[in-house]
Amino acid sequence: MLKEKTALVTGGSRGIGRAIALKLAAAGAAVAIVYRADEAAADQVCREAAAPGAAARAYRCDVAAAAECKETVAAVLADFGRIDILVNNAGVVRDGLLAGMKEESFDAVLDTNLKGAWNMTKFCAAGFIKQRSGRIINISSVAGLHGNAGQANYAAAKAGLIGLTKATAKELAGRGICCNAVAPGLIETDMTANLRDKDRILEFIPLKRAGRPEEVAEAVHFLAGPGAEYITGEVIRVDGGLAI
Ligand code: NDP
Repeated sequence: MLKEKTALVTGGSRGIGRAIALKLAAAGAAVAIVYRADEAAADQVCREAAAPGAAARAYRCDVAAAAECKETVAAVLADFGRIDILVNNAGVVRDGLLAGMKEESFDAVLDTNLKGAWNMTKFCAAGFIKQRSGRIINISSVAGLHGNAGQANYAAAKAGLIGLTKATAKELAGRGICCNAVAPGLIETDMTANLRDKDRILEFIPLKRAGRPEEVAEAVHFLAGPGAEYITGEVIRVDGGLAI
């Protein structure tokens, strides 16, 4: 379904991003995997992505740093010739109650989760506009839809990402570019491995279990493919009903 397409997936070395990279590769896309620190994990994802025959390559880049994003997009274009799908998935948490939250925790979460997506979108947009096509998929969160105590920074970033998604959708629709968001609920990854409230959250999930990264990847795969050609500015929850 995605043959001849190139996808750039940020945070593709682990968790949800890894599942997205593997799903898009299995659908035939060449994948550029952006990671920040864990080179070995990113290389392993490349090997797995390449197994069905897709080209895959890892790029070290801190998405919060605009100059690094610019260089990375240029390197991916030089290696693959084009980018068709951008998945802004890289994210971090620095949870804490509002009154005690350090400014650096607020800034770190906004810089990676929100500004990182803006950086990548900005530098991919020129190519998308030129080729008059492109799909941008932003990984938000149910915290961005409904807020979450102890996550003022994260909820603000993820809500901002939904605003960015809608503004981008409106601005670039005339050039054949679609931009959508996926809002996962509780997904089993490193990010949630040591979550203190996990059992309490599980009680509020109508489907009574945490989600798997592959279930988020299914929604991204749909939004990247031909079946989603007429969908833009949408937010798809993948949360077992948590945010109903
Ligand atoms: P993980 O912590 O498992 O993985 C995070 C990924 O992001 C890693 O590949 C990491 O790379 C990369 N990353 C982090 N910071 C940067 C940065 N500054 N620049 C480039 N890459 C970076 O997270 P998940 O897979 O759980 O989460 C993926 C996305 O889904 C995030 O945006 C998260 O907010 C969102 N989400 C997750 C939910 C969950 O329950 N897990 C729920 C809702 C949303 P490296 O390993 O090299 O540091």
